[in-house]
Formats: sequence, C-alpha cells, structure tokens
Amino acid sequence: MVGGGPAGSAAAYWLARSGHPVTLVEKKEFPREKTCGDGLTPRAILQLEDMGFDFEVPQFHRITGLRSYAGDDVMLEMEWPEHSRFPNWGGVIRRKDLDLQVAALAEKEGVTVRSGTEAHPIVENGMLTAVELRGAAGVQRVDPAYVIIADGSLDRFGRGLGTTRRKDFPMGLAARGYFSSPRSADPFLESQLDIRDSSGASMPGYGWVFPLGDGEINVGVGLLSTFKRWKHVNTTVMMENYVEAAPDYWGISAEKATSDAKGGKLTMSFSKGPQVGANWLVIGDAVGAINPWNGEGIAYAYETGRIAAGLVSDAIGADDPTLLRRYPVILDDEYGLYYRTARIFVKLIGNPAVMRSLAHTGLRNRTLMEWTLKVMANLLDEDDKHLGEYIYQTLAGTVRLLPTR
Ligand SMILES: Cc1cc2nc3c(=O)[nH]c(=O)nc-3n(C[C@H](O)[C@H](O)[C@H](O)COP(=O)(O)OP(=O)(O)OC[C@H]3O[C@@H](n4cnc5c(N)ncnc54)[C@H](O)[C@@H]3O)c2cc1C
Repeated sequence: MVGGGPAGSAAAYWLARSGHPVTLVEKKEFPREKTCGDGLTPRAILQLEDMGFDFEVPQFHRITGLRSYAGDDVMLEMEWPEHSRFPNWGGVIRRKDLDLQVAALAEKEGVTVRSGTEAHPIVENGMLTAVELRGAAGVQRVDPAYVIIADGSLDRFGRGLGTTRRKDFPMGLAARGYFSSPRSADPFLESQLDIRDSSGASMPGYGWVFPLGDGEINVGVGLLSTFKRWKHVNTTVMMENYVEAAPDYWGISAEKATSDAKGGKLTMSFSKGPQVGANWLVIGDAVGAINPWNGEGIAYAYETGRIAAGLVSDAIGADDPTLLRRYPVILDDEYGLYYRTARIFVKLIGNPAVMRSLAHTGLRNRTLMEWTLKVMANLLDEDDKHLGEYIYQTLAGTVRLLPTR
C-alpha cells in the first residue's frame, strides 16, 4: 500500500481483515498534517463506523447538518437527511488526528505500518516489477505481489506507472486555515455560495467554515477549473478576503489565525487513469475520486480503498491477477452516472453569475435545497433516485434560464 491517507489506510485495513499480509508505506511520520477542510459527511461516517472508529475521542466534533447562505441575504440550515444505509450525522476532525487513528485501526488488524518511508516504482518492460523503499534505515527493494497506490493528488508513484489526469475533466483548487472562534462548538458545517471580498465585490468560488469544537474552526475557500478565470485566482488572497467578510458571529480576523493558510488540488470525477495495471490499482485522490458536486474526498478515498482491497483479496484467493480488471467496471457502476451528471453541473455553474443566481434562487426554496443537499452529498436512497434525477433536471433547467452575465 503506497500512502497512509484515508485511501491507503482503508485499503490496508480491509485487506488485512480478509486475512492477507499487508505493508502500508507512508512517506511522512504520523501524526502528519494534511491540507483539508476536515469535514466528514454521513458517507464517511459509515466507512469509519465499519472500521470500528472511536467517535468518542475528544478531537471528534459531531455535526448535525449544513448551513448554506449566499451573500448576506439568504441563509438556510438543513439537517443531514434520514437514510436507510447512512447515519444522519457527520463530523469534523483534524486530519492529523483522523489519519493517525485510521492507520492505527489498520495496524490493529495486522498491517505493518512503515512511516517515514517513501515508495518508488521499479518498472521494467512497462511492468511494475518491484518497489524501492527509501527511509531513515536506507534503501530496500521489495517485490509485493500486488500494489495499491494511494499517494494522493500529486500521485508521483502512479505517474511513474504512466497515470495522467484528463484535462477536460474538472479539477478543484482550495485553501484552508485554522482560526480561534467563540462559535467553535457550532453543530453545523457552513458554506457560503456567493463569496465577496471586503469591498462587497463577488469572487468566483465558494467558502466554508467547519467548526472543530475545541475553540478553533477550519476556514477555507475553493473554486473549480470550470469557473471563468480560475487560473488567475490566488486562493490565499481569496481566503484573506473571505475571512474579512465572514459573518460577525464567527469572530474571526487575520489576528485570530492559529495557522498559515495552505492550499491544495482536488482531483475529481475519476479524472486520472489508467485505474488498474497487471498487478496494481489506484485509489482515492490518486485516481481522482473526489466528488465534483461538493469537493468531498475522504469518503470516496475510504470507499475506493475498500473496493480495491476486495478485488486484491479475490485475486489472491483465486490466484488470478486478471480479476483486478473488474475495477474500472465496478467504479463505473458505483459512481459513473453520478459523476457524469456532476461534470455537466459544474460546467453549468462555471459562470459566477449563474452560480450566484442559482444560489440566491435555490436558497429561498427549502424543499429544493434539502433535495440538493441529498444529491450533492450523494445521499439519495434507492427510492429517491428518480426524484434526485428530477431535482437535477430542475436545477439544470433553472440554470439554463438564468442570466449568464
Ligand atoms: C483545501 C482542501 C480541503 C479539503 N476539504 C475536504 C473536506 O472537508 N472533506 C473531504 O472529505 N475532503 C476534503 N478534501 C479532499 C481530501 O483532502 C482528499 O480527498 C483526501 O485526503 C484523499 O485521501 P487520499 O488517501 O487519497 O490522499 P491523501 O490524504 O493525500 O494521502 C496520501 C498519502 O500518501 C503519502 N505519499 C505520497 N507519496 C508517497 C510515496 N511515494 N510513498 C509513500 N507515501 C506517499 C502522503 O504523504 C499522504 O499521507 C479537501 C482537499 C483540500 C486540498
């Protein structure tokens, strides 16, 4: 397993739980920082529950729903929906705490965790024949039968095997920082769909405040490559403006920052491939698994890790590496239609004027927004799916009628 983030640790956990020997290689030492909003939706909670995560740890802050607003005139609070499979709550926890604990769960299942060790592919005649491990103890060559690649959005290991990103698929850019706030115990995630700079002028993108429950909040901004002029946007400046214009109740300003703002890429919509080779599979951000509807990647890292572990376990059991080839088909069955729809949607909202109008119109209609929350967080129940499709069509139809300037 290459990488000890959510994808790698989940894959390691599930493979070890099926009784296979697993080594998880992480280039940094745990606990390690990861630039993230630290927000978990019910999809991520389900995966954590299945791995036996302890939600009673003091670092975990429980979240009951989402508060959305646009500009300063419309605000809506929505609880997570009831669902036959997913819980109706989410959470916020710093990634250094979350990832440490999930890696520990994998270790408890028997995984050998080698932190402070960087993996490099050894490719001969186009095949991954071995892996070189570089760490404090020196350089070592190992020959695993299967390699699961979970090295995140930069994906240097995967690129060594020829993985590339489709430039015609959307990508996200985001930045986050920590601030002390009197409202840190707020049980809602907050998203601002029409962000303004301190002079009140609109900026392309969105902003969030995710409360940590420990006196601090995670504040961030993001935008998509479908947005006009996205290459010219400096997310650090955008973040400074967002903090200045944030609602007074958060009590934040540049002086309340407890960390520097840090940015990162969001590889989404399965924009990266190939997803599978003769003896390897790519999961999480390394395969571009982030949900384009909402920028959520942790749940999909856990889920793709679990799928990959199942396939490797089957391949070992049947002594048949060709079983790995089912991976792209399974991904398409599970996420294909949903991610394709998302790609159309993010293209439509690429125009800030459309995004603004849609946010202001949508937020005045609670029923529509509750359905939109279900669609965007991928929380439609089987019975809901036709209605989800209907909501999408309504949104898409509304978007087409909105002014484009
Ligand atoms: C600013 C920002 C905010 C975000 N907010 C949210 C959010 O609130 N909620 C959400 O669900 N998602 C969010 N995301 C997305 C989320 O962070 C990712 O989807 C998630 O981290 C993906 O997990 P991963 O395991 O695939 O990759 P990562 O978490 O990036 O883990 C990859 C790991 O691999 C290690 N590694 C890399 N190369 C090697 C190598 N050669 N050898 C060994 N180890 C290696 C790295 O050190 C790293 O630990 C956000 C992303 C950004 C940038």
